[in-house]
Amino acid sequence: MSDDNCIFCKIVNKEIPCSKVYENEKILAFLDIAPVNKGHTLVIPKKHYETLLDMPDNLLAELMKAAKKVAKAVIKVARTDGFNVIQSNKATAGQVVPHFHLHIIPRQTNDGLKFWPQGKYEEGEIEQIAKDISALL
Ligand code: AMP
Ligand code: ZN
Repeated sequence: MSDDNCIFCKIVNKEIPCSKVYENEKILAFLDIAPVNKGHTLVIPKKHYETLLDMPDNLLAELMKAAKKVAKAVIKVARTDGFNVIQSNKATAGQVVPHFHLHIIPRQTNDGLKFWPQGKYEEGEIEQIAKDISALL
């Protein structure tokens, strides 16, 4: 399964180059061309799936195993012990390339990367939202 307009499918099909760090039969990992920090790596399935919800469970498990292996090497080269694993789903959440990918971002103390602000719930709201979500599971 490959999408003609997808840049990551083109990388998998070797139509455009990448700085590959790892591959197996189903998974490819390569350096992000616009890294947050040096060594920032993307781990992708070779087949085209858009989001986490589209990924078959078995493949997801394999991809996570590969990501763990890659992350160990990334942090060694970046001479750190800290890293983030980030994954966005749909443009609403900031996904730019609609081919599932995990970002492995090596971190350094005070490297300036900031994440989300912390909000708060109104009285009783946290219980209601937990109930609403858990009712669907
Ligand atoms: P996202 O915003 O999660 O969809 O992330 C897409 C990521 O893909 C961005 O961090 C880009 O820098 C990266 N990217 C886009 N094109 C390429 C490419 N040709 N090679 C490597 N990384 C890429
Ligand atoms: Zn694709």
